[in-house]
Amino acid sequence: MRGLMMDVPLMISSILEHARRFFGDQEIVSRSVEGPIHRYTYRDLAARTAQLAHALRALGVEPGDRVATLAWNTYRHVELYYAVAGIGSVCHTVNPRLHPGQIAYIVNHADDGYVFADLTFVPLLEALAPQLPRVRGYVILTGETTMPQTTLPDAMCYETLIGAQPTTIDWPVFDEHTACGLCYTSGTTGDPKGALYSHRSTVLHAMTAGIAEAARRTESTGCMMPIVPMFHVNAWGYPYVALMMGAKLVLAGSAHDGASLYELIETERVQNAAGVPTVWQGLLDFMTANGKELSSLRSMRVGGSAAPRAMIQAFEDRGIEVIHGWGMTETSPVCTNGSVARKHRDVPNRMDYQTRAGRCLYGVQMRVVDEEGQVVPDDGVSQGELHVRGPWVASAYFENETATQAQFTGDGWFKTGDIISLDADGYLTIHDRSKDLIKSGGEWISSIDLENAAVGHPEIVEAAAIAIPHPRWSERPLLVAVRRPGSTVDAAEILAYLQDKIAKLWLPDDVVFIDEMPHTATGKISKKTLRERYAAGVLSG
Ligand code: AMP
Repeated sequence: MRGLMMDVPLMISSILEHARRFFGDQEIVSRSVEGPIHRYTYRDLAARTAQLAHALRALGVEPGDRVATLAWNTYRHVELYYAVAGIGSVCHTVNPRLHPGQIAYIVNHADDGYVFADLTFVPLLEALAPQLPRVRGYVILTGETTMPQTTLPDAMCYETLIGAQPTTIDWPVFDEHTACGLCYTSGTTGDPKGALYSHRSTVLHAMTAGIAEAARRTESTGCMMPIVPMFHVNAWGYPYVALMMGAKLVLAGSAHDGASLYELIETERVQNAAGVPTVWQGLLDFMTANGKELSSLRSMRVGGSAAPRAMIQAFEDRGIEVIHGWGMTETSPVCTNGSVARKHRDVPNRMDYQTRAGRCLYGVQMRVVDEEGQVVPDDGVSQGELHVRGPWVASAYFENETATQAQFTGDGWFKTGDIISLDADGYLTIHDRSKDLIKSGGEWISSIDLENAAVGHPEIVEAAAIAIPHPRWSERPLLVAVRRPGSTVDAAEILAYLQDKIAKLWLPDDVVFIDEMPHTATGKISKKTLRERYAAGVLSG
């Protein structure tokens, strides 16, 4: 039986696109062949790579054609990597340290149509050109002012070639098994032999190389504990991740109470653990009540529902990095990672970033669509429903055509039902589930923001905001809350507390206290149960 996940091909252009969109101001610094240090951003890289791709097409480079580079490590070589592969052609990176005869051999063997070369290699190519009859042109990787006099036939200046081309492109999507790169071994015997990489192999390899880099920090001594149950979306991948990273795996059985978790984390020296906010709150309450501290835990993943700021702050104050992530059963689930960007680590409002629902991860494509069906910008303000695509996103529901029709778009996206905004660094802010939003007098009220504000009160353990029918406003918010044991805080005090934390319109019409919050099987607050309980409305008017 085949799985029902999206058949999204692994494209090299998707790496560039991800970096342009979410790491746009990250730098590439090159010691240029001309001499000076050159610096620009991923955003610049993407713009110039688009220009190069258009220029290659204008030269008549077709999908499958080979394009050679004889170049050092500089930004222009990176542009060639992405542009050549991006249009479905093959980037043949020639090793200039090969014997000249071998260079001629591999350029002819690969049937390279164009050669892009650094200034350094112009004399070498001038000598070899007569042996390269099928090369249609040479592009020198430099600007007008440093363009050399050369006997190379059809020599072009790189900057002139790309200069007038458009800076954007819709990268084509094609079979992930398509070749993207070619590299010949400098074998000691016989002629060099070529390894022909594909988009799929290159993307998977880069992912693994990235994991290996991250694993350095945890391998052998690393110890991971998915508290999130293995029946809840693959325990967020931990049973696979721990084995990939070589980390010790600690499993909590059914004991999710604060005391049991604390004991297991401490005795097994767990360094990283994952769970929903309710579980972490239980652990925190246990620690606070018993004056305990965690001595081994370095980081914790939290997701599945909104993690209150006060809770994140409490763990951060104890030196534990809180990694707030977003995902769904339909997305395997991991789609974001809450590690705060380097540039936001030391800013005074670091917590604002820490409390967002993570940053979009490579491999997941996101678009935010407003009520009119328009895609909104990544400005951190514009809101809409999050749509996702990717190789680990469901393509349909198992034997459920009706649900599939409702949740998947005709153009291949999954509609998450979450109302979010995305910013230019890829941080995701969840405003609500679309069905949990409260619409009061035509204005949307975010139940999540209201709940987060409420649990900031020291006497409130858990809170849920739900919509209650209202004759005038159509809906008004009701806050349902659980008090700390022994607390006598009342509705008036909570409303007074909220007064300066949320918009006036958002102030709940009432606060009701219950002894225990209803939870779903995965530990989330069951708003469905609350809505049923309070459907008749308890608001005074
Ligand atoms: P499930 O499929 O049971 O994991 O539920 C997925 C839903 O949980 C998402 O659609 C979100 O509404 C919610 N969710 C997941 N992660 C978060 C988060 N970090 N903050 C707020 N809500 C979340």
